[in-house]
Amino acid sequence: MILLLLLMIAAGVLVSGRVSIPNRYNPWANFDAREEPGVLTRLKLARLRADFPQCLVALKTTALKASPLPDRTTGDCPLLATVRVTGSDVAFSSPYTATCAVATAWGAFERHALQPAALRHFGQRVVRVEHLGSFACRSIAGRDRLSEHASANALDIAGFVLADGRRISVLSDWKGGGDKAAFLRDLRDGACRFFNVTLGPDYNAAHANHFHLDMGGYRICR
Ligand SMILES: [Zn+2]
Repeated sequence: MILLLLLMIAAGVLVSGRVSIPNRYNPWANFDAREEPGVLTRLKLARLRADFPQCLVALKTTALKASPLPDRTTGDCPLLATVRVTGSDVAFSSPYTATCAVATAWGAFERHALQPAALRHFGQRVVRVEHLGSFACRSIAGRDRLSEHASANALDIAGFVLADGRRISVLSDWKGGGDKAAFLRDLRDGACRFFNVTLGPDYNAAHANHFHLDMGGYRICR
């Protein structure tokens, strides 16, 4: 009871703005991709799914080149709170449409997981990312639930190209040892810190050639 009272007082003081704490420790502050990730990172990113205007502000803190799209429906699939992504600090194999939440999570992943892992393992940056798409109006393979791809709330990543031109692919480099396999495992683990769902070759055969990253309501990291 006393603990609850203390928590309520602490919350009241924070909301009143009389005490300022760094945004990364403040659960009410909007997500900022430039801040070091912390315990609140995924919570703040997940919240962006329900708040398009706030998400567009957060998206501007990433390196992504993206512009908002009007809400619309394609077939049975509603496309809400989406953006068109044309590039970033890395080049993408093609432009894609994704929810603002997915794009913002990607921006944070790129800055805090992808490039640090590339520098650690290869001493250079990733310059190009090969993806298999974000929007597909379909159900999950073998099930009758709509895929997160049906709302462009997911992104499938197949490979990476380093500054020296070396290519790393999930399909051919996940198995076995070596720098490329270790790099891909670091990326899978790193993605779990930003995306609600991260699935790779360890999950099932359908993901042997890509990482599936989404901001849906589930929490899986495999
Ligand atoms: Zn996927």
